Amino acid sequence: MNGAGPVHIVGGGLAGSEAAWQIAKAGISAVIHEMRPGHKTDVHQTDDLAELVCSNSFRSDDAEYNAVGLLHEEMRRCRSLILAMADENKVPAGGALAVDRDAFSGAVTRTILKEPLISIERGEIDGLPPEDWASVIIATGPLTSAPLAEAIQQLTGEDSLAFFDAIAPIIYTESIDLDKAWFQSRYDKPGPGGTGKDYINCPMNKDQYLAFLSALREAEKAEFKEWEENTPYFEGCLPIEVMASRGEDTLRYGPMKPVGLTNPHTGAHEYAIVQLRQDNTLGTLYNIVGFQTKLKYAEQSRVFRMIPGLENATFARLGGIHRNTFLNSPRLLDAELRLKAMPRLRFAGQITGVEGYVESAAMGLLAGRFAVADISGESFLPPPETTALGALIAHITAGADGDTFQPMNVNFGLFPPLEKRIKGRERKKGYTDRALDHLETWQNPTVAAE
Ligand SMILES: Cc1cc2nc3c(=O)[nH]c(=O)nc-3n(C[C@H](O)[C@H](O)[C@H](O)COP(=O)(O)OP(=O)(O)OC[C@H]3O[C@@H](n4cnc5c(N)ncnc54)[C@H](O)[C@@H]3O)c2cc1C
Repeated sequence: MNGAGPVHIVGGGLAGSEAAWQIAKAGISAVIHEMRPGHKTDVHQTDDLAELVCSNSFRSDDAEYNAVGLLHEEMRRCRSLILAMADENKVPAGGALAVDRDAFSGAVTRTILKEPLISIERGEIDGLPPEDWASVIIATGPLTSAPLAEAIQQLTGEDSLAFFDAIAPIIYTESIDLDKAWFQSRYDKPGPGGTGKDYINCPMNKDQYLAFLSALREAEKAEFKEWEENTPYFEGCLPIEVMASRGEDTLRYGPMKPVGLTNPHTGAHEYAIVQLRQDNTLGTLYNIVGFQTKLKYAEQSRVFRMIPGLENATFARLGGIHRNTFLNSPRLLDAELRLKAMPRLRFAGQITGVEGYVESAAMGLLAGRFAVADISGESFLPPPETTALGALIAHITAGADGDTFQPMNVNFGLFPPLEKRIKGRERKKGYTDRALDHLETWQNPTVAAE
């Protein structure tokens, strides 16, 4: 296969570097087009590939009980460059995999520079990639430069590309107390494709509402970064605490309006109601409708557990609002991360609507493998949904709802339920055991068949 290609990769971040590595290891050439240092982003500080823009942590490294730890392990087994360099440059961080950031990105850069099948061209791609680039991976990340973002938006449509995420907290369905909450759509409307019982509703009486309101107003908030301050989230997508500060009834007439809903446990019409909407096809995750927030993470857990029915809620992800360029992948991408409207363009990294360093690199790994399969004419099936890699790609390309799509990090709520019901912590072990078992079969199908 030596000499085939090249695959053009736009963006030399975590996803782009990983994709290039996977392609080169299959004997195919890759060109990384990276705009730094000539053209900078608002947050990158160096010229290095795979620069970590904020924390130096790849989060938990526990492959037995944690979904991101499992993703680490799966990527190691798939010979990920990013995981190998992280392991080589790790610093003590308890159960987390944290790295010396300069040593890490320096090592990724040197390793790629030494790889004869990868070349790096420094310069911004300021529109759709040239037509004679037959195979392209766009991995330009949450801070994709404006001209390229605009070109993608023109190709795919106005609502297809977001420039900010506005994430409401997402909760594991099983942790919601249905002795207090109940399933019902407003006015029992089935709507298109619904049942009339599509939302989970959490009731509040007046005292509970007022206590919740003051907790929201007083809770500690995270600040916008200076370069994010002029965010266009205003009005359309106000943080819940901003709505709370506008007046006593703003929330009761907004996302917490109680009309059209009756509490079946008491028969009462409630003073205010918090609604949760199904977040994935499996129904294992629900998001709190209209609760995008800039509250600090610890404050979110504390304040949102004041909601009746959510006292013991476990969060698959907490809310946030950030500058973040991402595609409406469930609508736009096929199962192999190709843009349906222009299949020579494949996407990888945070721009596909995953969230986090590891998840971004994971989508780079898969995009690289898909590109190799296209060029070599071999078939490459995505990893099964029971693995962390497979659950993540299935979520962004199919499982998530295109109407409400927001970036997602890996969590067990994305995995199909276990065949056997196991309770508590051991259920996590059930997921990870099954994942690594299925990953092995996926990697060695012939051995498994013998
Ligand atoms: C401010 C901020 C803080 C974050 N903090 C964390 C965190 O602490 N932990 C975490 O897990 N995740 C964090 N993330 C989310 C995400 O994991 C990282 O952004 C991650 O780097 C995404 O990887 P990527 O490869 O998709 O994009 P990036 O690593 O950003 O790589 C994209 C590359 O493309 C280049 N590029 C952009 N446009 C063009 C163009 N037109 N032509 C050529 N090159 C281009 C950029 O210069 C960049 O090098 C953060 C995101 C942001 C914006």
